[in-house]
Amino acid sequence: MKKNNDKAYPGIDSFRIAAAFLVVAIHTSPLADISGQADFILTRIFARTAVPFFFMTSGFFLISKYHNGADKLKKFLKHTVVLYGISMVLYLPVNLYNGYFQMEHLIPNMIKDVLFDGTFYHLWYLPASAAGAALAWGIVKKAGMNSALVMTMALYVVGLFGDSYYGAAQKLPVFQKVYAALFEVTDYTRNGVFFAPVFFVLGGIAAQKRPDNNKKRCLIGFLFSVVFMLAEGLSLHRLSWQRHDSMYLFLVPCVYFGFRMLTVYRGKRKEKMRTGALIIYILHPMCILVLRLAARITGTQAVFVENNFVHFLAVSAMTVLLSLFLSGLFVKWKADQQKINNKKGEKRAWIEIDEENLLHNADEIKKTMPEGCKLMAVIKADAYGHGAFQTAVCLEQSGVETFAVATIEEGIDLRSYGIGGEILILGYTDPGRAQELHKYDLIQTAADYAHAAALNRQRYSIKVHIKVDTGMHRLGFSCKETDKIAEVFSMKRIRVCGIYTHLCDCESRKEDAVRFTNKQLEDFYRVIKALKEKGILIPKVHMFSSYGFMNYPKIPCHYIRAGIILYGVYSMPEEHIKLRLDLRPVLSLRAKVILLRKIKSGESIGYGRAFITEKDSMAAVVSIGYADGLPRSLSENRGEALVRGQRVQIIGKICMDQCMIDVTEVTGIAVGDTVTFIGKDGREEITAEETAKAAGTITNELLARMGKRLKRG
Ligand SMILES: *Cc1c(COP(=O)(O)O)cnc(C)c1O
Repeated sequence: MKKNNDKAYPGIDSFRIAAAFLVVAIHTSPLADISGQADFILTRIFARTAVPFFFMTSGFFLISKYHNGADKLKKFLKHTVVLYGISMVLYLPVNLYNGYFQMEHLIPNMIKDVLFDGTFYHLWYLPASAAGAALAWGIVKKAGMNSALVMTMALYVVGLFGDSYYGAAQKLPVFQKVYAALFEVTDYTRNGVFFAPVFFVLGGIAAQKRPDNNKKRCLIGFLFSVVFMLAEGLSLHRLSWQRHDSMYLFLVPCVYFGFRMLTVYRGKRKEKMRTGALIIYILHPMCILVLRLAARITGTQAVFVENNFVHFLAVSAMTVLLSLFLSGLFVKWKADQQKINNKKGEKRAWIEIDEENLLHNADEIKKTMPEGCKLMAVIKADAYGHGAFQTAVCLEQSGVETFAVATIEEGIDLRSYGIGGEILILGYTDPGRAQELHKYDLIQTAADYAHAAALNRQRYSIKVHIKVDTGMHRLGFSCKETDKIAEVFSMKRIRVCGIYTHLCDCESRKEDAVRFTNKQLEDFYRVIKALKEKGILIPKVHMFSSYGFMNYPKIPCHYIRAGIILYGVYSMPEEHIKLRLDLRPVLSLRAKVILLRKIKSGESIGYGRAFITEKDSMAAVVSIGYADGLPRSLSENRGEALVRGQRVQIIGKICMDQCMIDVTEVTGIAVGDTVTFIGKDGREEITAEETAKAAGTITNELLARMGKRLKRG
């Protein structure tokens, strides 16, 4: 993925510090001397946004409908648990001093504290964070984002009646009992089960939205919720319903809209603020204790402890100094660690995906499509080697709603990544798999009458696009079979959503080819017309892949099935195309120099002694071979590579896992240098088109054969 420093969220990072101070305020009551009411509003109402904001931030980066493995969750849980462990140890002396270990029923109480309430008053945040993340993640995975919101909101409401609305729950004896039982297990409902999950889910929802969508609405939503939350908090306080004052109904929209507004600011990441806020959160109670102790020793309690406002300022100052010092250390440590890890994970052979170019190509296609036409992104064969997951997620987030794949497995994979919208399977699927087609809501191509009839005999309703063979003679109903095609429309379990054909000579602009293609189109239209005359409502119609679109532009249809041009390349170089698009290549293919060796004049290199040096030379062994997708047909000086911005030749035969390049002329060449086979290095560029041509194939094949072994990054 392309690194872009302006893609972080400094708004969120900065507000972390503000949120941390709100928590300090909760524990120091800065306005208590001035007005009890003002202090209540600040610390028991407004400051309650702080912790949900932290949860939502974690959810924003963690929860996604695009689940692709649990790695991110595991990492988050591990970090949280480690941090919790360290914090517990840190506060252990204070626990000891407070006589924590002398309490009755120590073991059950300790379990309860570790799991729910925290072993020190503010530490509940960490187990709540871990449990909330895991719960939200699991529910979103099982039920999808919207249902997860409903479920976690229901949990939150249960929590409300054990918190700010406790007085209301007490009026019903059933509830009285339920909550009494609940409070045997946990001291509060503001924990990882009832409180945190909804904010994690909301974080995931915010991550799906484009940052500057509905800025105004978010501001209005925020202002309204703040006012309502204020009214809600004050009323509940007056009613004396509050058992605790962490949870309000309007806290949820308030944090959500506020957070959405913070995501509008994009720029450099503020790493120090993130760490700093966490340190303030964890250590401020320690600072409170130290301050009290120091005040007692120096006899300055009247100033530093009893005056609430000065107390708040003093604690804040101490925590800021401490967090500046520690976060500096931490950031440096992390950078060192990163360096070590980078060395460890040194890549062998890899592809890089430029998502901005992918989106640019998609926009370029959309811009030039006939009116009323939609882009159907063809992402078969692992998105032509680019990675189906990354490609599909990127395109869907930018608004693409229709995808095409070759096989049912590819379709199911897309669903498991969380891709919604329409997915058309272009290839043949065994009718025995009708249940899966139905379950994953995949659209099947009806390859001929027998195929459609067999699908109809299964017990599941299935969506299909009918394919018409207009001359390719691969899949499809013959143009003459209009009666049979019409029959499919009346099949009980088949819902025909589209009808399409595939052109087989639309790359060429030779007269003969154009004539053939026009005949294909005419035959296809004749079928459509015949169906219309039979009174059939014509579904979506499409016939163009990349080249059909470029050579026969502006012909109305419902979809363009764009494959190769989406990835920013033409199938072959130097073609005569009617509609020239501004395409930008998406994929780069690179590997490393792993060894350098001097070869004397007249010595051979590699298998079959296929290359004999004519002079004393320097060869570099490169960590990529044909098993990684570098075609063996590029052997023996047919293929080129870039290293240190210079073009060099592939010499000898390409092996399965390595190849050799001639670096005699490359000054400064060193082991570890990056070698580019497709893509840019400095001012030089090797295009997929020229590589494919040198290998005697088209870019479609070159890209689709990118090896499984390649790392993506
Ligand atoms: C692969 C395929 C496409 C996409 O072709 P490109 O030339 O890569 O755009 C479109 N339609 C069908 C039926 C295909 O099989």
